[in-house]
Amino acid sequence: MQTELADFIRDTPEGREAEAILRKCVHCGFCTATCPTYQVLGDDLDSPRGRIYLMKRALEGAEVTEKTRLHLDRCLTCRACETTCPSGVRYGRLVDIGRAVVEAKTRRGPIERLQRALLAWGLRRTRLFGAALRVGQLFGLAPRTRPANAWPVPRHTRKMLVLAGCVQPALAPSINAAAARVLDFAGVSLVEAEGAGCCGGIRFHLNYQEEGRDDMRALIDAWWPAVQKGEVEAIVMTASGCGVTVKDYAHLLANDPHYADKAARISALTRDLSEVLTPEMIAAGRDRGSVAFQSPCTLQHGQQLRGKVEALLAKAGYSLVPVADAHLCCGSAGTYSLLHPAISQELRSRKLASLGTPDVIATANIGCLTHLQSGTGRPVRHWIELLDVQ
Ligand code: SF4
Ligand code: SF4
Repeated sequence: MQTELADFIRDTPEGREAEAILRKCVHCGFCTATCPTYQVLGDDLDSPRGRIYLMKRALEGAEVTEKTRLHLDRCLTCRACETTCPSGVRYGRLVDIGRAVVEAKTRRGPIERLQRALLAWGLRRTRLFGAALRVGQLFGLAPRTRPANAWPVPRHTRKMLVLAGCVQPALAPSINAAAARVLDFAGVSLVEAEGAGCCGGIRFHLNYQEEGRDDMRALIDAWWPAVQKGEVEAIVMTASGCGVTVKDYAHLLANDPHYADKAARISALTRDLSEVLTPEMIAAGRDRGSVAFQSPCTLQHGQQLRGKVEALLAKAGYSLVPVADAHLCCGSAGTYSLLHPAISQELRSRKLASLGTPDVIATANIGCLTHLQSGTGRPVRHWIELLDVQ
């Protein structure tokens, strides 16, 4: 695609990156077939191709309107389009740049600004979120929290850090405890670092991009002593949404002279839990019932990891039911379910229908888990909880 970027961005790192991405797009439209928002809304401007066109115009200096921003806001950042694209267009990187430009050139109304500011401020405060959740539970307005099994005392020479995350410790403390127990059984001690909070994804994807980078730097600072001393062989992510963000630190902090090297080291050490736990490390089981695995977009598209969780569940004795349209987003997408409830709930209904009627639904991300559970009476669990049965 021919591009002529405007002076305000052409000679910046973002401008150069955006131009290289835009030039790869041949406008073939293959990506529209796998875009969830295009499938729901049927508008080409709510497809990857349409959004790429809108961003190209914005970066070329054309007038940017609230309509431009709305079409970018409606994107789930699921990156199904990247998996589909035959030309290797890195849509996810382009939309980060495009959104920052469009945000700077438009102004949201006061209610929308307040709503986004509250989400950016509140969700990453784990204690505050936990207190609010407990109040919500008292009035039956929030999901119940399953108690966590005991966390094993670190005893192995093989050690890995695990990210606690921001909302997961309050919503599902059972997930990291299950990961620690299963890995302990396999000869690896999992430890959480003091002061390790949000990965930065929440603020970054709400378009508070610099504030999101502040969260990333803070998390690197919390992990750095253990990494620098060589005490850990990996940093494990039990939420694929956090994993995709931390694996991208090397890119997101590449222009920060104080953090670029550290960020690259952290990204290189980061693994999804399904990358460190292999079927050979767990005991074979049988007749555990049927499970439908909902692979989060951040796992299958963002990290390009497929089939690993399914292999673990099969070894543990679960029978996996086939899932139609498994590439499609469930509609959770971070804060998307709160900001675009109608599209989000439509995608959730479609996803639950395609998951069928298994004994249990498994997933790999706390956002998807909570979102799916709010739409079904069938149990929805993180897959590691299904393995924590010794
Ligand atoms: S992003 Fe890829 S699939 Fe979509 S229109 Fe461009 S080249 Fe085609
Ligand atoms: S990231 Fe997902 S929602 Fe956004 S354009 Fe690509 S396929 Fe569509």
